[in-house]
Amino acid sequence: MPELPEVETIVRGLRPRIESRRIDAVRVLRPDIVQPPGMALDRRVLRRTIEHVHRRGKRIVFELDDASRFYIHLGMSGRLTIDLSDAPIRPHTHLILQIADAQLRLVDPRRFGGVFWLGTDDPADAGLGPDALEITAKQLGQRLAKTRRCIKTALLDQKLVAGLGNIYADESLFSAGIHPQIPANRLSKSQIARLSRSIKAVLNRAIRHRGSTRRDYVDSDGRGGEFQKFHRVYNCDGKPCLKCGQPITRIVLGGRSTHFCRKCQR
Ligand SMILES: [Zn+2]
Repeated sequence: MPELPEVETIVRGLRPRIESRRIDAVRVLRPDIVQPPGMALDRRVLRRTIEHVHRRGKRIVFELDDASRFYIHLGMSGRLTIDLSDAPIRPHTHLILQIADAQLRLVDPRRFGGVFWLGTDDPADAGLGPDALEITAKQLGQRLAKTRRCIKTALLDQKLVAGLGNIYADESLFSAGIHPQIPANRLSKSQIARLSRSIKAVLNRAIRHRGSTRRDYVDSDGRGGEFQKFHRVYNCDGKPCLKCGQPITRIVLGGRSTHFCRKCQR
């Protein structure tokens, strides 16, 4: 599923193509992807100009010229791409916004994502913790101190810290040398400081490589990312650890596969 680096890459690709441009036509092919249900998205966005697009956690937030906003969440398998107007429409295309001579298209076969209308009042970050790229060690420590869940599971909680998913939680814990099963409230101050630094370093590195593509993820131009080549534990089970040579282990935690080195992560 697209996590912070993938969503950031999409937003950076969208900006020069859609900001300050008008939405000239709207097609909502699957009205049930719009929240709240029954919202007439087409009427609200038609002929509005997109003033700004930005990322908050894994959300892609659109600000319109009448101060209303909505966000798109890509769920497990969503793609948000800029296509030529005459490009064939792929199966599972749910939304098309005509912007100048191009189309912004939302494709999501598994439909875990959606379009969430905020209007002018609701904040774009409701229900989200501090962004993973900005959270301070102090903020992270305060939040982890309140939960006995294991650290891996806690990092996936968007209310605790926004933007991490399975890939970057595993990679950050490896980078920080922290065992994924340690209860979050048992981390030492120095472990929290290390983890806070590792999260940002891993995410920034992934952004530089335009995110990770395993199955579905593509950027706004339909291109895959490259960071999967640099994963050190995620999906590397059985391969030798780059630090110590021991094979990387895979376990299931909270229903999610978790990859780590038993020797380097204590
Ligand atoms: Zn190791």
